[in-house]
Amino acid sequence: EETEPVEEVRPQSPVKPMTATEVKVNVSIPEAAERAAATGADGVGLLRTEHMILSLNQTPANYIEENGEDAYITELVEGIRGVADEFYPRPVRVRTLDAPTDEFRQLEGGDDEPKEHNPMLGYRGIRRSLDRPEVFAHELEAFRRLYEMGYDNVEIMFPLVNDAEDIYQAKRLMEEAGIDHKKRKWGAMIETPASALSIEGMAEAGIDFASFGTNDLTQYTLAVDRNNEHVADRFDELHPSILKLIGTVIETCREHDVETSICGQAGSKPEMVQFLVDEGVSSISANIDAVRDVQHEVKRTEQKLLLDSVR
Ligand code: PEP
Ligand code: MG
Repeated sequence: EETEPVEEVRPQSPVKPMTATEVKVNVSIPEAAERAAATGADGVGLLRTEHMILSLNQTPANYIEENGEDAYITELVEGIRGVADEFYPRPVRVRTLDAPTDEFRQLEGGDDEPKEHNPMLGYRGIRRSLDRPEVFAHELEAFRRLYEMGYDNVEIMFPLVNDAEDIYQAKRLMEEAGIDHKKRKWGAMIETPASALSIEGMAEAGIDFASFGTNDLTQYTLAVDRNNEHVADRFDELHPSILKLIGTVIETCREHDVETSICGQAGSKPEMVQFLVDEGVSSISANIDAVRDVQHEVKRTEQKLLLDSVR
């Protein structure tokens, strides 16, 4: 007597859905790298380096004075290496130092830092780096050493850029530091309306990617302090003006073969994910705890777009 064929067991839905849009993870402290890698993310969309420096409890200048340049560079190399190792060969996008002066002022040696009335509009990100090329050179030397060690998954990302001129200057400093910017992948954060409106020039200057820092982009576009509780209800990352800037940047980047990404908190919001996938963003980077949900939201949105396209 023949038995009924056993019904084929349907494969379990995979833990990580396959998506055309990459889903990456944000890492702020190197110690979280293992947990971040375990999410199955396609890479690190933002590795913040502030913690590596601020945890020294001294300003870079002070630390270098006491311990020497090499010790400072080594701190950076080791901090980044831990994450690059954990993810290899998945890419790790490392942001150059972006601490505002009020954070530096709390450290040993902080008295030498400028006293600013409005640090968020002041001496931070690429502005500080370009103004102090001798200190920035140590950061770039850390990247050079990592490349020499074979970490070709490391990418360089510049924060608070405003225009192509910032990019040309950063490029020149990479060159001076012995980094082959044609061989390496590097790019800029889109965090100011100026940067969004200057994207064409930045693309022509040679960036490989543009990443939306929506925490700052929202703050600067809406003139809403991201740390001010009195205007917190006006902090809307989905405001039409923000979406318009983002949409324009994605379109221009596509024309210039520049990748686009988001690494601000808004990347974890379903509405933002839908908008970005719809616009054709290359990748979305979310906090560790949000990665799984974003992977599924991306999958759902991609499927919906596919269905719509055949209707
Ligand atoms: C942002 O501005 O969205 C961003 C990711 O950078 P940070 O939050 O570190 O300023
Ligand atoms: Mg920012």
